[in-house]
Amino acid sequence: MVKKVNGIAAIALAVIMVLSMAACGQQTNAPAPAKESYKAGTYTGTGQGHGGPIQVKTTFTADAITTVEVVKQTETQGIADPAFTVIPDEIVKYQALGVDTVTGATLSSYGIINAVADCVKQAGGDSDALKAKKQPAPTPGPDVEKSADVIVIGGGGAGLSASVSALQNKASVILVEKGAAVGGNTLVSGGVWNAADPELAAKTPNDKGRIETLKSFLDKNEKDVGDYAETLKTLKAQIRKYLAGDTSKLFDSTELHIMQTYYGGLRQDLDGKWISGNFELVKNLCTKSLETRKWAESLGTVFAPALNEPIGSLWKRALAPAKGNFEGYIKVFSNNIIKNGGEIMLDTTAKELIVENGRVTGVKAVKKDGTKVTLHANKGVVMATGGFGGNKEMVLKYNNYWKDLNPKILTTNRETLIQGDGIVMGEKAGAAVTGMGFIQLMPLGWANTGELAGGNGSYCIYITPQGKRFVNEYAERDVISKAAIEHGELFYELQSQKSFMGFGTIEESSVVFKADTLEELAKKLGMDANTLTQEVNKYNSYVDAGKDPDFGKNVFTAKIEAPYVARAMKPSIHHTMGGLVVDVDAHVIDTKGKVIPGFYAAGEVTGGLHAGNRLGGNAIADIFTNGRIAGANAALGK
Ligand code: ADP
Repeated sequence: MVKKVNGIAAIALAVIMVLSMAACGQQTNAPAPAKESYKAGTYTGTGQGHGGPIQVKTTFTADAITTVEVVKQTETQGIADPAFTVIPDEIVKYQALGVDTVTGATLSSYGIINAVADCVKQAGGDSDALKAKKQPAPTPGPDVEKSADVIVIGGGGAGLSASVSALQNKASVILVEKGAAVGGNTLVSGGVWNAADPELAAKTPNDKGRIETLKSFLDKNEKDVGDYAETLKTLKAQIRKYLAGDTSKLFDSTELHIMQTYYGGLRQDLDGKWISGNFELVKNLCTKSLETRKWAESLGTVFAPALNEPIGSLWKRALAPAKGNFEGYIKVFSNNIIKNGGEIMLDTTAKELIVENGRVTGVKAVKKDGTKVTLHANKGVVMATGGFGGNKEMVLKYNNYWKDLNPKILTTNRETLIQGDGIVMGEKAGAAVTGMGFIQLMPLGWANTGELAGGNGSYCIYITPQGKRFVNEYAERDVISKAAIEHGELFYELQSQKSFMGFGTIEESSVVFKADTLEELAKKLGMDANTLTQEVNKYNSYVDAGKDPDFGKNVFTAKIEAPYVARAMKPSIHHTMGGLVVDVDAHVIDTKGKVIPGFYAAGEVTGGLHAGNRLGGNAIADIFTNGRIAGANAALGK
């Protein structure tokens, strides 16, 4: 994206500012601030953004910056876009580099600032002085007061879905979003959406190890699974029928999805207390996910056709947008909101719910410039602020699952946005919370940044810095993270280059290593080549046998063959399973077990569904499915 800023108004403003500063100087007898001086011309400079170098062209007169143009960048679509407009505008307007960064796009903002600083240096200016020069504190505008049928707080997948659905149900909608753009954590997620689709499964080749997984359900006892007993019974019958027929194609059913979500979430906290997913919530999700995925398609989301499986999903039942989360989800849903008359208020942070006679009737919020906003909801408020994975303090306070959680642990979350605000606001309005101690660590976090690296465990092995395998790579996320922590956190994901399907490029870096031989790779990773070679040979023999006597892995989609790629990984805070208590209609429940009228919630801000460990691919299913329910029910006053 290219942004040009007309410099004429800016020069005039700079002149006025310099004049008024000089006037002040005269009054106080302080020396007048030095006037910037540049070698007039246009310069090209570079700064490091989030996704790589950002190149800008900056034009100077002898004493002012007149235009800033972003000419080359590889930032994440949908996250950095506002920064390309706002930062150049601010720099020209205030003739300063100490300008405010864009909320949710901090690194991109600094990339642009540093690129302009590079130009300033080339033009003979003092970039340090310009960086020290802050933009003036904003003046709040007049108070804003508005109303709509439904107010949605948060513009990630859940909030966008709720807004679209409320509009489809004839409600007027205002969505408030803290960041400079909608998208939230959903934008930086894997984007993979679980839904049991038996027809699609029946067209997908089976992996032989899955037969064993299915057989293992036949040994489970209905007496042990509480509310899930009937579902288990139905699943067993389905599996028996499937095993008696053609097993060359994948099996799937809503019941299998329900039972895998149940077992995946069944966990014990550090006090020995068990938690499992609320049956009604799990059943609701697994039953409605497929129709919601089709609803997204009807709105314009285009999915890649083949079934996919993110790490820790335990089954191949997900689809991901063909062109990424921004094109597939965020753009489709936000365009739909605008097209249907909804309003999106960006850079607006909800602070408090308005509660009148026990009913949630609105929201108090504040804009980035300090303007006070009061929003009245004729029908309902939907809380969709995401989890608290970007709030380390809150994670450390609530964690009751990870023993000695490293306080320096990184996160996959967008930290400026994902702070658990909705949980705090909800509790203040009387909501109950559940499962707060269960925090999901993403094993595939980049070792240097903590960001999501993506991929799954079917085609690779995880090895310690000493070159030893240490876990079933196809296990749940908490199982892999726990094992990684026991081995010192840092591990390498090793795969054939031909299997590579991680996010980003396969270019070598401080965390990506390529090699033609295992000896070369061992050298690069500082490990013993014999140990590594033995581990890889042993693993490849397990792939041939379809059995892993060391760690019990049973889904293998590739051997580890030359040439190789290894990625340095560390577990990173990912998803917070706990949150506001809700029912299947997305009503928020108070501490006495009663529905709070006018109050709905959806997505990661809620608890009870994923229990102790969320399956990979269930978050996208959750946010869109329950967002849709919350929006419709709020619109209909149900
Ligand atoms: P989910 O996956 O549940 O939809 P996301 O993390 O994708 O959650 O999105 C949550 C969104 O809520 C983010 O865009 C975040 O900026 C926004 N948000 C968080 N707190 C507030 C708040 N206090 N006011 C407005 N928006 C908020």
